[in-house]
Amino acid sequence: MIIKDRKELEVKCSPVSIKEGEEIGVRLLHELRESENGIGLAANQIGINKRVCVVNVKEPLVLINPKIVEKSKEKFVFAEGCLSFPDSKLKTMRHQDIVVEADNHKGRLSFSANSQDINDAFECVCVQHEIDHLDGITMFDREFKSEPIVKGVNAPKKIGRNEKVTITKGTESKVLKYKKAQPMLEDGWTLSI
Ligand SMILES: [Zn+2]
Repeated sequence: MIIKDRKELEVKCSPVSIKEGEEIGVRLLHELRESENGIGLAANQIGINKRVCVVNVKEPLVLINPKIVEKSKEKFVFAEGCLSFPDSKLKTMRHQDIVVEADNHKGRLSFSANSQDINDAFECVCVQHEIDHLDGITMFDREFKSEPIVKGVNAPKKIGRNEKVTITKGTESKVLKYKKAQPMLEDGWTLSI
C-alpha cells in the first residue's frame, strides 16, 4: 500500500543500518514493480520512516542513507509525477548535476541530466525526488512557478529565456536554455513539460 496522505509524507526519516536498509530496499523494489509506471519509491511512502529509497530508470538502484554531496548551480525544468499523488503532474526545478553518497555504495554516484539520453534526466530527477521524500519534502515543494504572461486567465505559463528546459525528439533529448530550444521546437523537437 502506497501512502497518499501529504501530511504523513512530511515527516523526516531516520538513518538505518545497511542490513535493515537492504531488507527495506527489497520491499521497495517489489512495490515499485507492482506499481504502474513507477520509477522510484521512498520507504516513507510505504509507511517505513527510514532513510532508504529506490530508483529504477536504467537499472534498479537501492540507496541507503543517501546524501547529495554536490549539486550544480545549473537547474532545469522537468515534468514530475509521484506514486503517492497519481493524479498530479507538475513542473519542478531540479539541479542538472548531482553527486550522491550512500552507505551501501563505496564510490560516489554521479547523475547528470545533461546528456543525449532522456533516461539520464529521468534518473537525475528521480534521485532528487526520492531523497527529498526522506526529508519529508514532496514535489509540490519544488514546484516551478513562473510568471504568468498577462494575457487572459488561461494564458500559458512563461518560461524565462535563460531557464533550462528538456526537449526531446524521438529517443534523443537535450537540456539547454529555453532561448536556444525555441527555434528547435519549430524543427520537430518537443518541450518535455
Ligand atoms: Zn514521490
